[in-house]
Amino acid sequence: MFQENCVKQVIDESRRQLLKRVTLGVALIPFAGLPLRAAIAADLPLVTADDPTAKALKYVSDANKASGTKPGSKCANCSNYQGAAGSAQGGCLLFPGKAVKAAGWCSSWTAKT
Ligand code: SF4
Repeated sequence: MFQENCVKQVIDESRRQLLKRVTLGVALIPFAGLPLRAAIAADLPLVTADDPTAKALKYVSDANKASGTKPGSKCANCSNYQGAAGSAQGGCLLFPGKAVKAAGWCSSWTAKT
């Protein structure tokens, strides 16, 4: 009986440890790619003015120089912007493999929700 209780306690403790580790691991999943994503975005070449997509979307690296913008709209607060908060530049879903300026803007700007 004593041995049975000891084995049960060991199993219960192991189960608790496993649950703690799984819970912690699941909680950290959303943060797993952040440093990597930021590092990758920092290495991306900036979209240039002669980029065909940039021309089509009227992209500018400074939102203040765009006409017809919603006040305060810029890449940094666009839902397509992939850069980290406070970054000077980052990826954009509409410019795969390239970075846009956080202060930039294009006609596909969509408010971050
Ligand atoms: S879609 Fe958004 S983040 Fe991308 S260039 Fe246009 S305004 Fe900037």
